[in-house]
Amino acid sequence: MKPRGNYWKDFIALIFPQLCQACGNTLVTNEHVICIACYYDLPYTNFHQQPDNVVARQFWGRLPLSSVYVLLYFYKGGKVQTMMHQFKYRNSPHIGNKLGEIAGNKLAGNVVYRDVDLIVPVPLHPRKFKQRGYNQSQQFAEGLSARLNIPVNTANLIRLKHTDTQTKKARFSRYENMQEVFSVRDAGQFEGKHVLLVDDIITTGSTVEACGLELLKIPGVKVSVAAIAYAE
Ligand SMILES: [Zn+2]
Repeated sequence: MKPRGNYWKDFIALIFPQLCQACGNTLVTNEHVICIACYYDLPYTNFHQQPDNVVARQFWGRLPLSSVYVLLYFYKGGKVQTMMHQFKYRNSPHIGNKLGEIAGNKLAGNVVYRDVDLIVPVPLHPRKFKQRGYNQSQQFAEGLSARLNIPVNTANLIRLKHTDTQTKKARFSRYENMQEVFSVRDAGQFEGKHVLLVDDIITTGSTVEACGLELLKIPGVKVSVAAIAYAE
C-alpha cells in the first residue's frame, strides 16, 4: 500500500505540475528536476575516464591541476543551455544540487577523487549572491558533497572584486581582469589538502585559473577541478 503522504503529493502535483528543467515536459512520480528521458539523453562528457580531456589540456602550462572533470557539454540551443538558464536566472537552486548528485555518482569510486579533502565552490561577489539568492557553484558542490561524502568549504576562498560579464573580451585581457579577484582568508585551513575547486560553466577557464593560482600559493595544496558544463 502507498503511504498516505504520497496521495497528498500527487494531489499537489496535479495542481502545480513539476516540469522537467531540460525539456519542459511534466515530471511524473519519482522524477525530480529532469525527466528520465533527458537524464539518459544529456550530453555527458565521460571526462572522468579521460585524464587528458580537452578541458584538462586547456590548463596545461597555465595551472598544475591534479584532475579536471566536467559533467556536460554545453551546446547552443541544447538542453544544457535551457537547464543552465533556468538554474542561473529563474531562482532554481535545486537544479544545481541535482546535477551535483549526478556528477557525484560518476566520480564516486574513481580513484583520482578518493583523496579529495574539501570541495570549494568558486565564490560569488556578495552583491551578486544577494541578487541571485544563491551561489550556483555552491549548489553543485553540495550535490557532489552528498554523493562523495566530502565536506564543502565556502568561507575560506573569497571574491574581492565584482567582475563584469567577460564573454566579449580576449583571453589576455580576461586574464588581466581576473588578477586579484580572489583571495584565501586562512591558508592554514587548506595547507596540505587536496581541494576540489568547483565552477558552473567553463569556457576559457580564466575564473578557475584565477582561483587555482591563489590556492596553489598554499604549501602542499593539490587542486582538482569539477564543473557542470564546458562551452567551447
Ligand atoms: Zn526532460
